[in-house]
Formats: sequence, C-alpha cells, structure tokens
Amino acid sequence: MEKSFTHRPKAEKPALNYTILRGKDKIGENLIEIEYGETKLLIELGKALDGGEELSDIEKAVLQKKYDAVVVSHYHADHAGLIGQKKDCPIYIGAGARRILGAMDEYNGKILPNNIVAYRSGRPFYVSKIRITPFLCDHSAFDSYMLLFEAGGKSILYTGDFRLHGRKNSDGLFARLPEYVDTLISEGTNLGSGKPCFSERELEERAAELFPTTDRPVFVLQSASNIDRLVSMYRAAKRSGRIFYEDLYTAMLAVAAGGKIPRPDVFDDVYAFTPRRVQGKRKDLFFEFEHKRGIARIAKGKPFVMLVRPSMLGYLKKLAEKMDLEGALLVYSMWSGYREQDDVKLFLAEAQKLGFTEYTLHTSGHASEQDIERLKERVAASEYVTVHTLPTDRK
Ligand SMILES: [Zn+2]
Ligand SMILES: [Zn+2]
Repeated sequence: MEKSFTHRPKAEKPALNYTILRGKDKIGENLIEIEYGETKLLIELGKALDGGEELSDIEKAVLQKKYDAVVVSHYHADHAGLIGQKKDCPIYIGAGARRILGAMDEYNGKILPNNIVAYRSGRPFYVSKIRITPFLCDHSAFDSYMLLFEAGGKSILYTGDFRLHGRKNSDGLFARLPEYVDTLISEGTNLGSGKPCFSERELEERAAELFPTTDRPVFVLQSASNIDRLVSMYRAAKRSGRIFYEDLYTAMLAVAAGGKIPRPDVFDDVYAFTPRRVQGKRKDLFFEFEHKRGIARIAKGKPFVMLVRPSMLGYLKKLAEKMDLEGALLVYSMWSGYREQDDVKLFLAEAQKLGFTEYTLHTSGHASEQDIERLKERVAASEYVTVHTLPTDRK
C-alpha cells in the first residue's frame, strides 16, 4: 500500500533569549526578562535605591506587564522591593529568603502575599518549558541564589549578587555549577575597583582582636538583614566574653533564618531588646523571647556587643543617661557609601558627641574582580554580560 506523506513546514524553533531592562551601569535594581517561545519570565523585581516611594516608568511597566512568573535571587530591596505589588503571577524566591520576608512583614503588621512561592537549592522547577535551577551562593543577604535557566538546548546562568569570600565554602557551589553555559549574566559591583576583599572569617578574627582592646560597651552599626555579619559579630563577642544584644527586628530575622544563627530564642548569651516602647503585636512578639532585657538591666549588666542602626539614636541617648558610654566603641560595618545618607551622617555625628570611638570593620557582600574571573572560567560561558555595575564614569 502506498504510504501517504504529509508535508509540514518546520515551525521555527523558539530560542532562549534575555533582555536587560535595568541594571546595566547601575549598582543594583536589575530587571531582566527571559523568554522562550510564549513563556516570559521577569528576573528580579526590585526598587530603585534612590527612588523613594515613587515608582519609575520601568517599574510601573513591569508591574503591569503579563509574565508567567517572576524569579527573584534574594531579598535585598533592589532585587525584591516591589514583589508585594505584583499579584498576577507566581513569584519565586528561596525558602529561607521567603521566611525572612515573612518576618519583615510580620514586624510591620503585614502578611506576606500568597503568590510568593519558595524554591530550594539544587532542586530544578519549571515555568512552562523553561527549567530553572537555583544554586545557593554567599552574599550579604541570607539565602541568596544564582539561577540557571535552560530551554531549547540553551542555558543562561544569572549570578544575582554573590561573593566567594563569605562563610559559605565556594568549592561546594563550584562543584554544583554546570560545566558550560551559553550565557553568563554576572553581577559586577566590584569590577574596576581593584578592591581585594578579605573574608568574613578574617573579619571575625579582626573583631575578636578589637573587642578586648576596650572594657567599654561595643556597638556595631550594620544592616539587620546581613545575617553573615551578625554571625561574625556574635562569634567575636563570644570569644571576648561579651553577651550579644539584638533589637526585636533583628532578632525576628535571626529566628526566621533559623538553624545555627545566633538568636534569643535558643542562644543563652543572646538577648533581645526594644529600642522604643512596643505595643500590640510587637509587644507580644518581644515577650515571646525567653532572653530579653530592658534598658535598666542592659545598663547594669554584663559587658556586651549590641547591634544598632541609625534609627536607634534616641535609644542610645537614653542608655547614655543610665550608664557611662564615654569611650564606647562604635564599629561601622556597612558599605562606605551609606556614610553619605543623612540618617547615617547624623547618627555618626551624635555618636561622636556621646564620646564613642569609631572604628570601621567591613568587607564587601559582592565578589572581587578575581572571583568573577574564577566564575567565568569555571562555567566557560560563550557570552558574558555584566549587570549591577558602577556607571563607567564612576569606576
Ligand atoms: Zn543588589
Ligand atoms: Zn544584594
């Protein structure tokens, strides 16, 4: 019998493509689209760091546009600041990062939207035909990921924000990454700075040497959500025989991070305090902690290391009325650029008036130039693109 053949013209094969909407020549605020056929993803949904409450045109556009999903690498505001405003598709973020965002919302009396879905390291998931694999990496935000996108035989590895000099062992990450990717989209915060980055463990060593040089209280000015730094400072405090104070907000984030993270629900030498009078839900949350201290007991108690932020200036002034803070050590442990912010400037000036001695101890949350090179070699990318970089005229 004669066979019948139907000729079907070959449909054009879709390709895995990306478009960088924002994040080139800009520290942070990446907005990247990844497309394969009909499937469209948005990578990151952050807020312009200097944009205030106002939404920019590009932010309005991505909030209105129809995507199959948004995939976010970590909880920093320049990557995740607008996720609460997009309800029309699933938003994927790491399981630990989701817990942290939940704790931030709980502190602020809000509830995390239910379209925020957790992914886990090394466990691929699909949005239509795009396969996405998250790889846990080290960064100044807890639970940060590199994201691998694969479809139609092509791959794109997006690094999010990362560093190789953190507490996590970079060998583990390098062992898990693919041998080859077609495109590497890497963060380049430290490109062109020539800045060597000492490790987070080295930072702990330096803090552990510094704290015993004084018998005065030690205050550390750092971001509440920099959990790695919290661990370094706690360990240095413990090594120098000091107890550790976390304000309610920081303590809630530490509890959400869980595991071995120092926090006042399980660590005997970690105490929660409230820099201002708390009421309602916050009061309940504070009283849930077994280890907590009021200002009078802090003033009369054991030598300590206390994490602080610029908003706690009023509290430090009150504390100075109850105990002698002359000669107290203030460790500045954040990016130097924050010194230009009005609230930080005021805090540092007032701390000086209170008699504090300032000392800077910080290492970058971002990869050094050499480490970006190491990653490039490791994944042997055919194409290499950078985002999250300083504008060319500021390098
Ligand atoms: Zn960033
Ligand atoms: Zn970040």
